Amino acid sequence: MEIKSDYLIIGSGIAGLSFALKAALRGRVTIVTKKETMDASTNYAQGGIASVLDPHDSFDLHIKDTLESGAGLCNEQVVRMVVTNGPDMIKELISLGVNFSHNTTQTERLDLTQEGGHSRRRIVHTKDLTGQEVERALIYNAEKNKNIKIYENHMVIDLITTSKFIKRGLSTNETKETCWGAYVLDIITGEVNTFLSRVIVLATGGAGKVYLYTSNPDIATGDGVAIGYRAGAKVANMEFVQFHPTCLYHPMENNFLISESVRGEGGRLINKKGDHFMERYHPLKDLALRDVVARSIDTELKKSGDECVYLDISHRSSDFIKNRFPNIYMKCLELNIDITKEPIPVVPAAHYMCGGIMTDMQGRTNITNLYAIGEVACTGLHGANRLASNSLIEALVFSRFAFEDSAKTITGKDDYQFPPVPLWDTGSATDSDESVVVSHNWDEVRRMMWNYVGIVRTNKRLIRATRRIEVIQQEIKDYYWNFIIARDLLELRNLATVAELIITSATIRKESRGLHYNLDYLERDDNNWHHDTII
Ligand SMILES: Cc1cc2nc3c(=O)[nH]c(=O)nc-3n(C[C@H](O)[C@H](O)[C@H](O)COP(=O)(O)OP(=O)(O)OC[C@H]3O[C@@H](n4cnc5c(N)ncnc54)[C@H](O)[C@@H]3O)c2cc1C
Repeated sequence: MEIKSDYLIIGSGIAGLSFALKAALRGRVTIVTKKETMDASTNYAQGGIASVLDPHDSFDLHIKDTLESGAGLCNEQVVRMVVTNGPDMIKELISLGVNFSHNTTQTERLDLTQEGGHSRRRIVHTKDLTGQEVERALIYNAEKNKNIKIYENHMVIDLITTSKFIKRGLSTNETKETCWGAYVLDIITGEVNTFLSRVIVLATGGAGKVYLYTSNPDIATGDGVAIGYRAGAKVANMEFVQFHPTCLYHPMENNFLISESVRGEGGRLINKKGDHFMERYHPLKDLALRDVVARSIDTELKKSGDECVYLDISHRSSDFIKNRFPNIYMKCLELNIDITKEPIPVVPAAHYMCGGIMTDMQGRTNITNLYAIGEVACTGLHGANRLASNSLIEALVFSRFAFEDSAKTITGKDDYQFPPVPLWDTGSATDSDESVVVSHNWDEVRRMMWNYVGIVRTNKRLIRATRRIEVIQQEIKDYYWNFIIARDLLELRNLATVAELIITSATIRKESRGLHYNLDYLERDDNNWHHDTII
């Protein structure tokens, strides 16, 4: 089957949906999403969205905080663009029906909370369920829009580009690679269909699942980075993986995040003995940047041999805790932890990918017609370390600028001619009788990345990881070409590619900066490494 549209959007999180709502004013929009529409990291965001809305705050302060967090690698122009467009984006969300929390004393004002690295209270939120509320409103608007068609359980395998799939279509004056659409697996029927489009948007989110412990949902397997990379898109800064310091540590719960705003509202980290250990690591104590807190916990755990540390907010009133953090309160209570009375066991976990498909200020990649927005992209906003709550706002601002740029190519002509594209060829692939290969390699990649390419790296560990990933990649390649594809195999293939990109980037950067911390090069080296790592 061949499905044609003006805009093909891959992913239904904040980036994909907010782009779709704009694009629908201009043409026919197709969204493909690999599970149900709401299965996205966006749905799990708790803390909120950073934006300058308080009279005591300023754009300059938000820019300064973002640049400081980015450890010298932010693109200042991009930071300014995102920060100054922030308030408009919040207004736009409100106009789409998003209900943000309001201040309890001045009820006409939005409630602004604080998170690590922010010098002012500037995080707009809906209690501790911000992402869920934003995703709800975006899906509601997208579903009732007649120009938007959403294909759930549809997973993109690869992009269709001129040089890879349409070689004969390459005319002599066409020097740049062009994207025409994607091959998409219908997960329910097993068919692979061809989706053609004039504009293609990667909005596939992050890659937390590449690590054993992560706050990310199952969809976060780095597909967009791997798909883009295979198509020839430039990938940047993959060594900068953010580990969230406080994921719930409990045998019954895999990846539940304890929001940074718990520390913003006075929560204190303690070890098993009850010591407030952050006092020993950083002058900002519990409100130090995420990477500092995550590394401090890692050191504390390695020193003590304990399995977790604890986050204690029980000194705040019970009413305040239940009202401000209803989601965290209830989730912990289900596990017999009453956070109004006792500390929460926590460990660090992979949380956010600062690197990704490299784009310019309009979200354009180096491939014609192909855009990347949201967590899959490396726009220059985050540099070597993302400031908390800066990612939802980045997705919103870039969806606006990417749309405005891409709209120039949609001239309203309905009879657009796509080049002839071959149908997906399954060749001689057969059904696999050994799924254990896939599950074993899934586990091995994630464990290897956690142990060798995690919060603290060394040259030796990176060499070991390089050797391991080469073997795993070969095994996956053999398997991929011989057996009929399914979602877990496609995800594993992408996960391994992303792992390889992280290892390679971490090996290239011979210094410690932001989120990349290598015990063999402890210092930041601005003379040699003050630039992005581009692959
Ligand atoms: C627990 C948690 C808490 C967070 N808290 C905050 C916060 O408070 N503030 C903040 O700013 N950020 C926060 N973040 C980060 C933020 O939520 C994400 O960066 C952001 O939501 C990413 O949005 P996105 O649209 O780029 O991707 P996502 O929301 O992850 O959406 C990606 C979409 O792509 C689809 N997809 C992926 N691969 C394919 C494929 N091959 N084919 C088809 N579809 C595909 C997925 O199914 C999904 O629909 C948090 C993240 C997590 C996990």
